[in-house]
Amino acid sequence: PRPIEQLDAALQDTLRERENVQVKDAVVHWFKTDLRTADNHALSCASQKAREAGVTLITMYLVSPQDLEAHVVAPVRVDFVLRSLRILRDDLAKLDIPLYVETVEERRQIPARIAELMESWGASHLYANMEYEVDELRREAKLVRMLAEKGMCMEIIHDTCVVPPGQLRTGAGKQYAVYTPWFRSWMAHLRKEPGLLELGEPPVRNPESARRTFGHVFDSEIPVAVSNKTLADEDAVRLRALWPAGEHEAKKRLDAFCKQRIGHYDRKRNFPAEAATSSLSVHLASGTLSARTAVRTARDRSAGGEGTQTWISEVAWRDFYKHVLVNWPYICMNKPFKPEYSNITWSYDEAHFAAWCEGRTGYPIVDAAMRQLQDMGWMHNRCRMIVASFLSKDLLIDWRMGERFFMEHLIDGDFASNNGGWGFSASVGVDPQPYFRIFNPRLQSEKFDKDGDYIRKWVPELRGIKSSAIHEPYARGAGALAKKNGYPEPVVDHSAARERALTAYKEGIESG
Ligand code: FAD
Repeated sequence: PRPIEQLDAALQDTLRERENVQVKDAVVHWFKTDLRTADNHALSCASQKAREAGVTLITMYLVSPQDLEAHVVAPVRVDFVLRSLRILRDDLAKLDIPLYVETVEERRQIPARIAELMESWGASHLYANMEYEVDELRREAKLVRMLAEKGMCMEIIHDTCVVPPGQLRTGAGKQYAVYTPWFRSWMAHLRKEPGLLELGEPPVRNPESARRTFGHVFDSEIPVAVSNKTLADEDAVRLRALWPAGEHEAKKRLDAFCKQRIGHYDRKRNFPAEAATSSLSVHLASGTLSARTAVRTARDRSAGGEGTQTWISEVAWRDFYKHVLVNWPYICMNKPFKPEYSNITWSYDEAHFAAWCEGRTGYPIVDAAMRQLQDMGWMHNRCRMIVASFLSKDLLIDWRMGERFFMEHLIDGDFASNNGGWGFSASVGVDPQPYFRIFNPRLQSEKFDKDGDYIRKWVPELRGIKSSAIHEPYARGAGALAKKNGYPEPVVDHSAARERALTAYKEGIESG
């Protein structure tokens, strides 16, 4: 059975016990990637349960350093999460709701530790929103059974996707593996089930007794850093100014985007020099903003039109990749979605990989993008496609090395979207770019950064080039200046690299 079916089975098997659990002294909400009070379905349910029974709502967040290693999380992301937690704690405190934070060294201890905490608080009911990665689903299945054995119960709610996985099926009853018909079905489903866009109620104030009884829970400290995931001081200052944390900031950004930029999103979103996209991915990935709120706000507050439609269809990609993950969980195990792409002979050339990581490939658009990633912890979507194609095709390097590098550096790193994006660009994923469509980095550069402004911003060695030579300085007479400033010559010749990739992909598929 798939992990989601294992979780369903655990919920079914314990249904009777769970229904009979009486509310005791407290109800608990477990925050994971849903760090907000607004429109948080599991938090709303927990709050309602506590209010109906007249008991305290306790919320908790568990930091697991081992989890961060295993799932690969960038330090910039960890820092964002810790900052968001502080804001969340202060907001909850205004409602007399405690946020208990604890570091659990070993991830496999998490279910047992949760059960222990619940017992120590006299809590009967645990609520959480569902996460769809394999480890998380299996962990939750274990926790559901463990709590049921101890006379407690856990409710797991679909919240992170606008349309929960499993609700959209092709005419033949299967999961869609192609985005366009899936998106049509997603839109039709929302029209049929408008309740899916209903926002969760904010949590209500705890009874007065909460602070008296659970004072120690209110006092828990939020760590300022997590081992091996700490930002250097100078980076911390810059990145914190760049990415203010928390749900209020998310809402502010969303409102400003819907007011000022969504109208021309369809026309401008592909040009990395323009600030034309929402920059909301970190908030959607950490849950300081719900996808539901994003879609609903766009629909209600913007003037409508192509820009809004296109933006909603981009937010839907996030749902699409989570649906794919639930249906084909083996993609969590380092396997390509398409098994026939398992036999490609990849290059593991260390010098080429280092050049790509450092933004020193000699291809200005690729280098600008990789430096943007290193500097901001974020990269424009068009550039993510360009650098992913360049790594997997021009350099023929195993796409999984790029996928991992992205997770190590992205502030918005999200397994499903990242894996989906890499699968698309390396042509090994669900609904991918066909393998014989290989981006020409120079043409991409000329088309999407025509004036070279994006390159000039991120590659200071080339700032002095005012002409179109900026797209390939060594081939267009600007080599002397590039060389003088220490900018490298291209690490590979694109035409030859293209031929090599076509052969390698073809041979890999044929031998598969
Ligand atoms: P906007 O253009 O404003 O889009 C709004 C939101 O829609 C985004 O915040 C995001 O949540 C969602 N979205 C948009 N495009 C996509 C897409 N193609 N796939 C999935 N969701 C999308 N996105 C991540 O959130 N995390 C990742 O780890 C990630 N890795 C990627 C790796 C590769 C190789 C590629 C090609 C794409 C990846 N994306 C990832 C998708 C996309 O690049 C980012 O979501 C987007 O650039 C974020 O900027 P924005 O918030 O301004 O997006």
